[in-house]
Amino acid sequence: MTAGTVIIGAGQAGLSAAEALRKRGYDAPVTLIGDELAPPYQRPPLSKGYLSRELPADRLWLKPESYYAGAAIDLRPGVRIARIDRAARCVVTTQGELIAFDHLILATGGAARRLPLPGADLPGVHVLRSLAHADALSDALAQARSLAIIGAGYIGLEVAASARKRGLEVTVLEAADRPMSRTASPLLGGWFGALHRGYGVDLQVSTGVAAITGSHRADGVRLMDGERIEADVVLIAAGLTPGVELAEDAGLACADGILVDAHARTSDPGIYAIGDVARFDSALYGRSIRLESVQNAIEQGRAAAAAICGARAPYDPVPWFWSDQYAIKLQIAGLIDGADRMVRRGDPEEGAFALFHFRNDVLIACEAVNAAPEFMAAQRLIAARARPDPDRLRDVTVAMRAFLS
Ligand SMILES: Cc1cc2nc3c(=O)[nH]c(=O)nc-3n(C[C@H](O)[C@H](O)[C@H](O)COP(=O)(O)OP(=O)(O)OC[C@H]3O[C@@H](n4cnc5c(N)ncnc54)[C@H](O)[C@@H]3O)c2cc1C
Repeated sequence: MTAGTVIIGAGQAGLSAAEALRKRGYDAPVTLIGDELAPPYQRPPLSKGYLSRELPADRLWLKPESYYAGAAIDLRPGVRIARIDRAARCVVTTQGELIAFDHLILATGGAARRLPLPGADLPGVHVLRSLAHADALSDALAQARSLAIIGAGYIGLEVAASARKRGLEVTVLEAADRPMSRTASPLLGGWFGALHRGYGVDLQVSTGVAAITGSHRADGVRLMDGERIEADVVLIAAGLTPGVELAEDAGLACADGILVDAHARTSDPGIYAIGDVARFDSALYGRSIRLESVQNAIEQGRAAAAAICGARAPYDPVPWFWSDQYAIKLQIAGLIDGADRMVRRGDPEEGAFALFHFRNDVLIACEAVNAAPEFMAAQRLIAARARPDPDRLRDVTVAMRAFLS
């Protein structure tokens, strides 16, 4: 009997690959192994509706319980893989069980980055990556009056919005000179900063944290300039460390992610990597990228399944991402770094606008705030490597008509 495909990581990407294998008619065993106890679930609500208590837990599951048996996917929650034995073509669980594979897919995501700060291990200091983290944070907020968040990236800001909805006093501390500095333009970052301040968040930029204070549990943070900020709960929202340990130990090529080709294949052609953990060459952007988004997890999972089934479907996406904060829906298509020109459509003062970013006249990214049509138009223009007239792009319908004609 064939060993089939083993998938390590029962998250968004792992499930997508399993589902796509079955949709393509793959009839060998599919084993989906995850170290969390919960069945595969969506992470985005953990900082949004789930944390603000607007979305119940049963809305998080990606599939109903009956789906797995029906699709002949052997879901094994609560099982952690300790090692990959490439020579023997098997993985080894922490309990010592050997599970053989013909194809192996690494969908291990990553861990919330913890900062090497004094006090970072105190009770009352939280990170947010998993459902267990979200439950712990939510329970802590229920007993708290104030929250300090270290890091003004998407997750930090989404948690700030959810905590304000729950009535907490919120301070956000960001080392860079604006929120979302890694992935968003200065104009957008500044706009979100003003949005949060308008909702009563004490957002402090260009602010380094020296320590988390407290003797038995966290009671605040001390800044680099010596100021102390009191907080009942502290959240470190400092990004993700990709989960490359198994791959590195197995000798697969890694560099801030597991290196894969356009078919999600690692340096071992029978082993694939997908989702947040995978780094690949983007023909569209001319460099290697590692994406942390639901869209990438789903589509790269499908690309791996296609390759296992012998189909040639190279993966070269227009990345996209969304974030919900208060009543604002932010959608970003493409990657903005390297842009040399920006065109604005709409008025930021009115809370609905789009920022189009160009490099050498080619549209490479669009940041859309409550502006879904602009976002969708931009996705198509970016994929086509289009050079829309920036002045005409101020009217998206005209630009789309010009592009389609
Ligand atoms: C709070 C939060 C909000 C987000 N919001 C958005 C959003 O608004 N929009 C968006 O596009 N994206 C968002 N994301 C990102 C998105 O959720 C991720 O990009 C996506 O979940 C990645 O899927 P993945 O399968 O690669 O990794 P994961 O979903 O992290 O799954 C990896 C799984 O592998 C397991 N695992 C790791 N190692 C082992 C092992 N050795 N053995 C067994 N199991 C293992 C992990 O425990 C985990 O369950 C958000 C993420 C978070 C945390």
